[in-house]
Amino acid sequence: MTKPLIIITGASSGIGEAAARMLSAVGHPLLLLARRIDRLEALALPNALCRGVDITDRGALLAAVSEAETQFGPADGLINNAGVMLLGEMSKQDPAQWEQMLDVNVKGLLNGIHAVVSGMIERKRGTIINVSSVAGRKTFPSHVAYVGTKFAVHGISENLREELSPHDVRVITIAPGAVETELLSHTTDDAIKTGYQAWKQDMGGTVLSADDVASAIRYAYEQPQNVCIREIVLAATRQQP
Ligand code: NDP
Repeated sequence: MTKPLIIITGASSGIGEAAARMLSAVGHPLLLLARRIDRLEALALPNALCRGVDITDRGALLAAVSEAETQFGPADGLINNAGVMLLGEMSKQDPAQWEQMLDVNVKGLLNGIHAVVSGMIERKRGTIINVSSVAGRKTFPSHVAYVGTKFAVHGISENLREELSPHDVRVITIAPGAVETELLSHTTDDAIKTGYQAWKQDMGGTVLSADDVASAIRYAYEQPQNVCIREIVLAATRQQP
């Protein structure tokens, strides 16, 4: 094995799954994390350790990273991708939903950083890729809590980039617009879901694919270590906001 270990959170569907397939195809050993381990194992990728880890469980995450590093060597990349989008209006939304988004999208992301950052500093090498969103740069209707989590991801990412820059560790923010994945399906408000689907149709039904975003992730990762692409914002050409 000549290529180093990459950890992908939320690899059981959508962008994380596409990134797993793409990075495996170019020879990286992988640690694949998500709650649905059956989906991770069904990918059947070579040199891929699959662990059913809830990203909010820091202990379980650390144990999985340690196991993968023992097997494949130190992690050179972390794709901090696991996330949930439960759209809703603040006057109606169950607080459990915004708590879940904060726990997964923000605290889970910090857990991922925590698991790899010391080793990367020690080795003076590594890349942390945080998957944020266009909703981490601008607001959208019914997105209050989700936008809050993604603005947090942008802020955390940029501040972390500055902190790790003297140690030659790169931090990259990927900010996609609408992507065709399972993400919307977890929103429980049917009217909001229908409106979101109509918005996607207004774009000619051609929003980004998970592969489009995975290609951007791969492109940023594969730059020479002294080149840090700080942020990639990508959306369907027909997406206006
Ligand atoms: P998916 O719903 O297809 O994938 C989300 C992934 O996150 C799944 O693998 C899911 O796995 C995992 N996940 C969710 N909660 C947890 C948890 N508690 N612990 C571990 N893993 C978890 O959506 P996307 O691929 O679209 O989403 C990936 C990222 O991209 C998210 O951060 C999202 O916010 C962001 N994004 C998506 C956009 C879109 O339009 N789709 C646009 C902009 C950004 P499991 O359920 O098995 O645990």
